[in-house]
Parts: sequence; structure tokens; C-alpha cells
Amino acid sequence: MQASMVSTGKLVVISGPSGAGKSTVVRELLQKARLPLQLSVSATTRAPRPGEQEGREYYFLTKEEFERRRLNQEFLECKEVFGRGHWYGTQKAPVLNGMKDGNWIILEIDVQGALSVFENYPDAISIFVHPGSMVELERRLRNRQTEDEEAIRRRLEVAREELAFRHKYKYEVVNHTVETTVELIQQLLEQHQ
Ligand code: 5GP
Repeated sequence: MQASMVSTGKLVVISGPSGAGKSTVVRELLQKARLPLQLSVSATTRAPRPGEQEGREYYFLTKEEFERRRLNQEFLECKEVFGRGHWYGTQKAPVLNGMKDGNWIILEIDVQGALSVFENYPDAISIFVHPGSMVELERRLRNRQTEDEEAIRRRLEVAREELAFRHKYKYEVVNHTVETTVELIQQLLEQHQ
């Protein structure tokens, strides 16, 4: 189904390697929004990290429940991210309802998920956020101190692969500081009003 057929709202896809500061940028963007932005809360089979809350960062589902919803076609897109058996997906209903209400729905999703969204929603406003260099990304991932060495190594590998797809996005933003990145994204979005 094409977005234009169902709504007056817009779809905004934001991707970028984990550790690029994407989540912070999105959080700030939502707070400072001069537009009716609404974050799509994804579903995942991974366990919550300390401080994460059900329905705020993610809907945490069992593998069985995720699979049931996937077979029931309840996802707009879903992917097994990082090849480690953790699934992530965007639930269709809240996104389409939000757009019907005129909201601009933000999907913070990985590159593979984004590519499948672009096929169905070519009008999506897509933004790739990255830290500028792999060295900087590694520094940020280590500062975060949420993952072990093996997980960091894997994320860097995935980041390298993801960076290769940045030209598939309408916009590419280097996240030097959260403030300037948020302001830049606001301006980009306002051009689509
Ligand atoms: P994390 O486990 O660090 O929260 O997220 C890992 C990755 O999963 C991030 O790159 C994030 O963009 C991606 N992700 C989060 N939600 C979704 C989703 O609904 N679909 C897809 N395809 N990727 C997602």
C-alpha cells in the first residue's frame, strides 16, 4: 500500500550505525519538534538493557510472539539485525494510524529494514546519520560501555556494511554535535512541509 493512499502524514526513516548518536538525536528532535513528529516504537526479541522500558524504547516480545505477528503480516518491515537471532520490526497499525491522523512518523531502523520501506514508500523522507569516520564510531561505541568486546567488533563490522548504503537515503548527516544535527534535520524536514 502506498503512503499517499492512506494518509496525510509523512514517513521519516532515520538510520545509521549504532553508536553514531542516532537515538540521542531522535530523542532531542522529538522534544524540539516544530512538526507533528511521532516516534514509531519497534518490537524486538532482544532483552531489555538496564533502564529500558516496555513500550518506550521497544516492545519486547518472545521469539514465538514475534514470529506469530510476522506470519500474520503485522509488520511494515522486520529484519533479523546483526545476524545473532535478534529480530526487530516496525508494527504496521500504529504507523498507518499515526499517518492518517496527519503525524510525521519517525522510523529509527536499520539499513535493510529501510531499504524494504523505500520500496513500498518511495516518498519516505530518509536520513542517514553517521559519526563521520570509523575511528570516531569506535570511540563512541566504547564510551557507551554497554557492550562487550565481541559485540563492539560485530557492530563495527555491521557499521562498515551499513555505510555502503548511505547513498540510498535522500539525506546524509554527519553528527558532529547533537544540537547542530537536530537543527539540520529540523530544517530538512521543514522543506517537506
Ligand atoms: P539496539 O539493539 O541497539 O536498540 O538497535 C540495534 C539496531 O536495530 C539499530 O541499528 C536500530 O536502528 C535497529 N532497529 C531498531 N528497530 C528496528 C526495526 O523496527 N526494524 C529494523 N529493521 N531495525 C530496527
